[in-house]
Amino acid sequence: MAENIDEELHVSAPKTVAVGLPAVRHSMQLAFNEMGVKRTAITLSSLNQVKGFDCPSCAWPDQAPGERSHAEFCENGAKAVAWEATRSRVDREFFATHSVDELRRADDYSLEHHGRLTEPMYLAPGATHYTPISWDDALALCAARLRALPDANRAVFYTSGRASNEAAFLYQLLARRLGTNNLPDCSNMCHESSGAALSETIGVGKGTVSLQDITDHADLIVIVGQNPGTNHPRMLSALETAKRRGARIVAVNPLPEAGLVRFKNPQKARGLIGRGTTLTDRYLAVRVNGDLALFAGVNKALLAREEASPGTVFDHAFLDRYCDGLDEAIQGWRDLNWTDLELASGLARDEFEAFAADVVAAERVVVCWAMGITQHRNAVATIREIVNFLLLRGNIGRPGAGPSPIRGHSNVQGDRTMGVWEKMPDEFLDRLRDEFHFEPPRRHGFDTVNAIRAMRDGRVDVFFALGGNFVAATPDTDVTQSAMAACQLTVHVATKLNRSHLWHGREALLLPCLSRSERDVQPSGEQFVTVEDSMAMVHSSKGRLEPGSEELRSEVAIIAGLGDALFGEDVGWREMGRDYRKIRAHIENVIPGFEDYEERVGEAGGFVLPRGPHDSRTFATATGKARFTRNLVDTVSVPEGHLLLQSVRSHDQFNTTVYGLDDRYRGIKGGRRVVFVNEADLAERGLRDGDVVDLVSVWSDGERYARGFRAVAYPTPKGCAAAYFPEVNVLVPLDSTAIGSNTPTSKSIVIRIEPAS
Ligand code: SF4
Repeated sequence: MAENIDEELHVSAPKTVAVGLPAVRHSMQLAFNEMGVKRTAITLSSLNQVKGFDCPSCAWPDQAPGERSHAEFCENGAKAVAWEATRSRVDREFFATHSVDELRRADDYSLEHHGRLTEPMYLAPGATHYTPISWDDALALCAARLRALPDANRAVFYTSGRASNEAAFLYQLLARRLGTNNLPDCSNMCHESSGAALSETIGVGKGTVSLQDITDHADLIVIVGQNPGTNHPRMLSALETAKRRGARIVAVNPLPEAGLVRFKNPQKARGLIGRGTTLTDRYLAVRVNGDLALFAGVNKALLAREEASPGTVFDHAFLDRYCDGLDEAIQGWRDLNWTDLELASGLARDEFEAFAADVVAAERVVVCWAMGITQHRNAVATIREIVNFLLLRGNIGRPGAGPSPIRGHSNVQGDRTMGVWEKMPDEFLDRLRDEFHFEPPRRHGFDTVNAIRAMRDGRVDVFFALGGNFVAATPDTDVTQSAMAACQLTVHVATKLNRSHLWHGREALLLPCLSRSERDVQPSGEQFVTVEDSMAMVHSSKGRLEPGSEELRSEVAIIAGLGDALFGEDVGWREMGRDYRKIRAHIENVIPGFEDYEERVGEAGGFVLPRGPHDSRTFATATGKARFTRNLVDTVSVPEGHLLLQSVRSHDQFNTTVYGLDDRYRGIKGGRRVVFVNEADLAERGLRDGDVVDLVSVWSDGERYARGFRAVAYPTPKGCAAAYFPEVNVLVPLDSTAIGSNTPTSKSIVIRIEPAS
């Protein structure tokens, strides 16, 4: 019998409707369990409210100030807040009782479920248990290790997308003041491919669409490689509004996700007692990694329609004035043949033609996407082809039209805007120099994959993580765990215990920080922080709850304290830690678009950052034009007898945080070691639904195993499979990354399935 199989696992048919009363029940259940009734009322009544705190989960934007409901959150927002505002604690007694070795054997859900960290903890060289340490000693130790480095580039400063703008700005300043650009972040693993493709083609690495473009203006909303029902649930309300207004939705996804099919809005009568709102009008069940072929194919179909009736499909006024490279792209589409496109996409020619007809019938088109597009070897080419698709009919820089990569973490976009990137341009570094009077390093640093390589190869002594769960979020789990263990010191700023804290360096520090929902009081008074959502809206966030322990410090205070311990007063670390207005004043001077920062972020709902393509059809590209590209339409080659696996989240999960063991919409209850496979693929391998199997990924350096998964016959395209991360991250080779962005290819892993050994 295979090891670690989920005994309580129960499988039923996938759902075809999302949210509804079950979402309310599940949200409140977890909230009351973790926080109790009173705390639940306090937290959820201020979540995503104008004077409240920002949801620490995804980066879906908030409604305009006057349009927010009293319950301005979704099921996963409520879970995220409850998970951090829990009354459970992980204190010194807990660590005295549980050795690191013992804790390593626990699953990710159990680790975090123990509760909030309460004070700084230290793991001495050779020790088996974490022990308490004072803040002064912890920061002094960390500063001493950093100061002792022979080269600042032997330190790595990782950021999870939860860090506020103020914390992120101070963090990049600290790393650069020390002398390194080693600033990998979770964006390297999520929308780096979007940033690379959009910067090249439209001159800005972000989406150009506002929430109102979707709710009030778009005629056609194309949702690609995204599962909003679980990963951006409030998006369903926006889609419902658009549908009620007459918009159409095309969904492109290998899996029939309930949140793309029908939505029961519990804040509306029709959602409580009626059938709710049907969302998707056309569902394109593309094969895994088939999106590039789909968009190249639909562009080819649009070209044929234009050539059949010139001037009726392409927006020539826009193309002539704002674009270049079209002829080259057209030649590329001409050279494609439909048989290859059908094979590569898993779709039939008439599905391409039907999609093209939807596009031609629509005046204004928005394309939304997420990891289903960005974590593939050809991801950058796919996003460039999506831009081609939008440019052909001038679907950018006007209401209801444009590209919209939807961010998975609440401030991942803000962190990048603040300078958390291993390759910030000289313009930014020049302004940083002028503002703080030191010469920042110019050599590009390590992104996430290169940081793991450097740690593995003994080229990193100090690994510092501002939030996140590095070991669980990254690919090639066994390699990453050993890479962490190869460091001299590992430091984690965190709210709860997680796997990364247990795969530590020679010595380790755990520095507990405030959560978003907790009040942050500094010597100058109560502080607020700011964040930036997927649509470039910058707004404030102010906690309401008393901190879970007196020993908790804010992310800003921790970084300012370390800066002070390392450099003394220097650029004003202490002052910035005491009063965040001082940080925002520096941000205003260093980062374009933050003029009158304090005043504008004080307004209800905050302000939107400049987006040239949206605001004025200005394209800050190499040619000053929006750029068409010709893309090689390739797909991952899958050897005979193998499948293409995509890693996905369950509905009880946010990134690597596991709130529970159910995936309600996909019919999974009580377990996570499941693999969704097309029934015919199981039969061809002499397997059936319910069998226990091992997953084996194949790469040039050998095979990787993930053992003991329950096979679930599922309506995914033939040749494709899906399973949850972090459980299958062990199958993703470190060197398997996207061309042009170095993002791990977690959405297309070549595997074989065999009976469990
Ligand atoms: S949609 Fe995202 S940001 Fe909004 S409440 Fe839900 S999880 Fe939080």
